[in-house]
Amino acid sequence: MTFVDSHCHIDGPEYDDDRDEVIARAFDAGVTTMLNVGTGDPHSGAFERAVQLAEKHEAIYAAVGVHPHDAKLFDEAAEERLIDLAKESQRVVAWGEIGLDYHYDHSPRDVQQAVFARQLRIARRLNLPVIIHSREADDDTIKIIRDELGGYDRGGVLHCFGGSLQMARDAIDLGFYISFAGNLTFKKAVELRDVARQLPLDRLLVETDCPYLTPVPFRGKRNEPARVAETAKFLAELHERSLEEIAEVTSNNFRTLFQVEGD
Ligand SMILES: [Zn+2]
Ligand SMILES: [Zn+2]
Repeated sequence: MTFVDSHCHIDGPEYDDDRDEVIARAFDAGVTTMLNVGTGDPHSGAFERAVQLAEKHEAIYAAVGVHPHDAKLFDEAAEERLIDLAKESQRVVAWGEIGLDYHYDHSPRDVQQAVFARQLRIARRLNLPVIIHSREADDDTIKIIRDELGGYDRGGVLHCFGGSLQMARDAIDLGFYISFAGNLTFKKAVELRDVARQLPLDRLLVETDCPYLTPVPFRGKRNEPARVAETAKFLAELHERSLEEIAEVTSNNFRTLFQVEGD
């Protein structure tokens, strides 16, 4: 049985002391493929670092895109640099994470919206699927995707999903996948599990979003890709399927969305 971690951040300093061990533990846990999502200040070298990690490991792919937290740092130089990275490396398979975060509001909302729309247009021009981060911004996220990606067939994923059933269904109608992270396993996440139960399996992905969102029963510790199976276990229970089946379906969905090979 093998898994894919569709969204992780293992290029960051949290893993500088033991990155190779973290990757080895992922393999031991059956995680054959990881998508490492570059994030941070686009002028800091963070995205180069993410792409370099993917260049080094056959099991790791990369995504580039400016997070809504950092939307205020997005400018033409950043845009040019990220486009170059995406074009130059075969390992970059998606644009993201991009979107809206109205929970933290680290960048002004109008700036977040403009930078989100602009990056959707870039992804479309590069023919890459998009990875969307949306927090407490369901309606605006769907509206901007609908405005910018109408008729676009590469689609994308709403990562670390925490929205409503309506939002998930709207996104699926727009050709998107829905990815669940460790927060699906949290005791209080009753509503989220209810949403997950009602979504079609052929549109679901699993992720760790590590180092964040460590699933039960490891909550409180630094997260890592090996833990993606914990979220898959919850999905299996919610859908009354075997873990093997969930592992296979979510891995196949990943390969379809990002057009990558893998076993
Ligand atoms: Zn995110
Ligand atoms: Zn993330």
